[in-house]
Amino acid sequence: MTVFTAPSFDDHEKVVFAADRASGLRAIIAVHDTRLGAAVGGCRMFPYGSDDEALDDVLRLSRGMTYKSALAGLPLGGGKSVIIGDPAQDKTPALWRAMAEFIESLGGRYVAAEDSGTAVADLRAMSQHTSFVSGFAATEHGGDPSPSTALGVYVAIRRALAHRLGASDLQGVRVAVQGLGHVGYALAELLVKAGARVLASDINGANIARAESELGVTAVAADDILFADVDVVAPCALGGALNVDSIAKLRAGIVAGAANNQLRDRADGARLADRGILYCPDFLINAGGIIDVHYQRSGLDRSALPSHIESIGDRLGEVLERADQCHQPTVDIAETLAEELLDCVNPRGEGLLNVA
Ligand code: NAD
Repeated sequence: MTVFTAPSFDDHEKVVFAADRASGLRAIIAVHDTRLGAAVGGCRMFPYGSDDEALDDVLRLSRGMTYKSALAGLPLGGGKSVIIGDPAQDKTPALWRAMAEFIESLGGRYVAAEDSGTAVADLRAMSQHTSFVSGFAATEHGGDPSPSTALGVYVAIRRALAHRLGASDLQGVRVAVQGLGHVGYALAELLVKAGARVLASDINGANIARAESELGVTAVAADDILFADVDVVAPCALGGALNVDSIAKLRAGIVAGAANNQLRDRADGARLADRGILYCPDFLINAGGIIDVHYQRSGLDRSALPSHIESIGDRLGEVLERADQCHQPTVDIAETLAEELLDCVNPRGEGLLNVA
């Protein structure tokens, strides 16, 4: 295993490993950048095939959080944590206590929120042992930030359609949603309500059955969903959906989804651009959840939350226009914009854009 020379290391401020024999916890916390504030990011639980895989995931995810919060106008840094384990079998009170103590040991430099494999109940369990967890406040969704993430992706889809097709609404627009979990289901619901024709897949049959009966979506086999004949593909499952093989087969003109790290590697942004596919960078458009978590943690007036999430559309519009002008992949433009915003911040954290 390499750390400092790993391609995903990218000058992380801190990467900490924990093992607790009594509870079985094996976890990594990665703090990428705290120029804007404490690093806030999800705690993912996943049965990684190897330690290298877990390390690569946490490093890529935490870097994405730095860019996500900067572009969303939040006074937060970028960080993430992963627990190596099976969320269906390995969750115990002792595990959450050990993870909470691990988070606490960083003294607030990292604040955990929900992610794949963890749920509001798990955050609440950790909150018994550390104050550095967020995303379980008594909001309209019991602290779950997923509906806010879905709203941000929905706003982005609308903006991308307006940019690419001049479409002012979603009537009759065909969207393929990959993954009907917390975010994908809420996104499908928003799309259906707006008049879109939604095709969807999930490897969990119960999720598909529910979406078919409650939302009237059309079920598509998991292997086919990305290549459906649609206007928009929305990857809302796990990362890596967009790679050299899948990009060659895409039929949609727009990709806009919630999943983190959709591009398997850096060159995939250019591959999409070369095919004329408008890619909405994941770390830009899935920021609704971290915006929601910030409002929960800071006690901000939630009536301002929808308009803050709507601002994702404006930021995306800025990126799409710059990408057209510079003939560069949207993901490169979004990263450059995030770096510019980070460079504007003085050592006291001032200078942050304010879109709230
Ligand atoms: P989730 O675990 O609730 O849902 C993921 C769904 O994808 C599950 O229903 C799973 O069965 C399905 N799935 C897995 N592999 C699949 C495949 N190959 N084909 C089709 N379906 C598949 O997770 P979530 O909270 O909805 O998050 C989805 C994605 O969005 C993740 O990548 C997550 O990191 C990202 N994200 C989530 C949030 C949030 O607020 N929850 C915020 C930002 C980013």
